[in-house]
Parts: sequence; C-alpha cells; structure tokens
Amino acid sequence: MPKIPDEVVKRVIDLARIEDVVGDFVTLRKAGVNLTGLCPFHDDKHDGNFIVRPSTVSEKRGGNTYRCFVCDAKGGPVQFLMEHERLSFPDAIRWLGKKYNEPVDDVPVNYTPPPPRPAPPPLPDLAIPKSWVKRTMEIGGDQTLFIYWLKHLPWDDEQRARLQQTLWMYCVGGWKDGRVVFWQIDHNGIPRAAKLMRYLPDGHRDKTQHPGWIYNQDGCRQALDPDNHEIIKPLFGSHLLSSYPKAVVNIVESEKTAIIMANYYGDPDTQLWLACGGLKHLQLDSLQPLIDQGRTIWLWPDKDGREAWQKVCDKLGYDKCRVYTHFFDTCWTVADGMKADVADIAIRMMTTGEGPRKEQRLKDSKDFPAQAQSSKSIELDTDEPFLDEEELRDPRVREWRMKMSYVHSSGWGKCPTSNVPDVKSVGEILNEHPLLSKLIDYGDTTE
Ligand SMILES: [Zn+2]
Repeated sequence: MPKIPDEVVKRVIDLARIEDVVGDFVTLRKAGVNLTGLCPFHDDKHDGNFIVRPSTVSEKRGGNTYRCFVCDAKGGPVQFLMEHERLSFPDAIRWLGKKYNEPVDDVPVNYTPPPPRPAPPPLPDLAIPKSWVKRTMEIGGDQTLFIYWLKHLPWDDEQRARLQQTLWMYCVGGWKDGRVVFWQIDHNGIPRAAKLMRYLPDGHRDKTQHPGWIYNQDGCRQALDPDNHEIIKPLFGSHLLSSYPKAVVNIVESEKTAIIMANYYGDPDTQLWLACGGLKHLQLDSLQPLIDQGRTIWLWPDKDGREAWQKVCDKLGYDKCRVYTHFFDTCWTVADGMKADVADIAIRMMTTGEGPRKEQRLKDSKDFPAQAQSSKSIELDTDEPFLDEEELRDPRVREWRMKMSYVHSSGWGKCPTSNVPDVKSVGEILNEHPLLSKLIDYGDTTE
C-alpha cells in the first residue's frame, strides 16, 4: 500500500473539523462554546460527559478535540475515526479526504457517513398546574418553620422590609405540617417539581427526614427518585430569569441559601440567586437555559464543595461561568470550622457585624457588571377557583383528600430506591375527577 505523502496528510488534517466528524456518528447539541452528546465509547446515559470542543476554538484552548470525562476517551478527528471506526491511520486520512473532497491516493475507501440518528422522542408534558403553587403560597407563613426562622434572622431594616417580597418572588410555600415547599419552576414559568423540606427552629434542615417531592408524572417510584434525570428539574428560581434578563446568575447549593442571599442583597436586576439543590444536581441540562441566554454565571459552592464545583465549571467549558471564591477568601476566618456556605457567612455577618459589610460588598460588586433593568412582577396564572363551601361538604372530597394525603406523605421512605409505596402519581389522581383538580389542599399529611 502506497505511503500517503506527508503534505497530503497535513492538508487533510487541517481540513478536518471535529464537530463534523463526531457529528456523523453522535447527535450533538450546543453547550456554550462546546458541543455535547452521548459518549460513543461507553454505555453513556447522560449528556454532558462527552464534550466536543469545536474547531472554532483555538488549538491552544483545546479546540478541535473530543473528550469523555467518564471513560477518558479523547483526541482529534483522526483519533476519533481510528477508535470509533477501527480504521488504521492511513485509512482515517483517506476517510477524511473523501469527506472533505481532498484527493489522497487511489486506494479505495469506504466512506459512508451513517444516517443521522433520529431525535429522541419529546418528554411528555409534565407541567404542574400553577394553582398548586398559589395554594401552597397561601399556606406559607409562620406555621412554616423555615419561614418563621427566616423572619427572625437579624436582618437590617431594609432587608426585613423586603423579605415578604423575596419569598413571594421565589414562590416559597408551606405545607400544613410545617414543611416548606420549594417550587422548581422552569425558565418558561412552568412548575416542574416541588421539594418539601422540614426545617428545625434553628434553621437547620431536619436531617432525619428525606425531602418529599411533587411531580406530575406517572409512576411514583421513578418520579420520586431524585437521581432519575428524565424528570425536568430546573434550578430553583429559574422562573425569575425572564424578569431579570440582564442579571448575573449566582448559583448556590441549597434553596435556603438562594433565598437568604437574594434577600441579603435585594438587587435582582443585577444579581439573581438560583439553587441547584445539591452538588450532583448541578447538571449541564439545568445550566443550558443560562448558557443559551449568554448569562454570566457565578458558582458559589459550600465550603466543602469548592473542588467539585470547579470541576463542573471546567467541564462546562463555558467562558462566562466561574467559581466565585473571593467572598470566601476575604472572610474565611468568619466561617472557619463551620461547614459553611455563603449564607452562613451572611447570617454570621448580620449577627455579629464581622466580615465585609456594605463597603466591602460594594467593592466586591466591581466583579459584577451592574446593568440596571426595570423589574417586572411575576405573573402567576392563578384564576382557577378553589373549592367553595358546598364542594367541601361533598363526601367524595374527603376520600380524594385522603388519597392526596397518601401521596403527599409517602415521600420515598428511608431510601430513594426502597420503601416507596406503590401509589399513583399526584397527576394521575388529580385527573380522576375535575373537582379534585381544584382540591389543592395540602393539609392532613401527617396521619
Ligand atoms: Zn465515554
């Protein structure tokens, strides 16, 4: 077999674009400057591990390469063909020559780019009625321990005055058994899930209880499994994005932290606070809407999560996403010894006056582009009427109520994969009777 001249090899390699070559075999979608898809070298279930850094990115910055963070497959267009199509080096060059109409030699090559893969079927509509959100917000109040605790933090006058507004912005609701309801409403304003958590009077989460979840999806077992990524779980606070299009987006781990920081700074036009609900939920999918909007993203890990979040940030390969550590660095002694996050530091500062106060905050904010933008109110579509007196006397209502309670109180038991009662999903039960769709009474969940 004739040797391919070096200059021909070079010419072909210069023409080869990794996004085209991988794109012939893998369905890719944009993720910031990068592309991502399912890794073809291992049994990949989730987008986001396999990253293609396109040829438009300079070589110095890793352009024209692919990499899998799970199986560590990596390389350029030639390596991809050698690995994926099991071609020899000369045959990979011939394949590329054929693809880019660059004559290589007379050795025949089977260039057959496979047909594009069919797009995955769209997810079923799992939207939750907005009236549910409203109803829980009506329950929210001092009987919700989290809200009670929040109201008794040592806010300054300004902060205290806007606390109710902050809770309202985030659609924070309550359950009659004292749990707080954190709705996860997506960037289009569609409620997708709710997380129910019990807090103790000292503001810490009751770790003896797993959070409960509400999804509008069949099959409670899957629906209640937090690791089932088929469920759309937007970042907590995503619904605020459209109202504050210019704001820098700060992402923290817990919903509690997002609310505290939002109220602490009180400036959603320039800074929004979103929560991912835990490190492992900081996923490409939930960050994608932010990347699509070209947002500047700051990640605020908990004290023990800095390294892990940096990894996520690196993996994202999105130029406008950074881990924000300045705050920690300037007041680390305040948080020393605590399993602290940024809200712990803020509370500590409110309590003791330690740490950077307003002047320091202003200095910090030079890192944030201050772009004023008029705030708009959050419109919830809440015209749906609730039960009137007569409907409440309907004997069927009690029965439905009990069913609802069963779903609500079931949680997922001690472990996400065991002890899950085989109950219908909330959505399924709601569909049983039109009246029931109005019965969004979350009481009686503790029996
Ligand atoms: Zn892989």
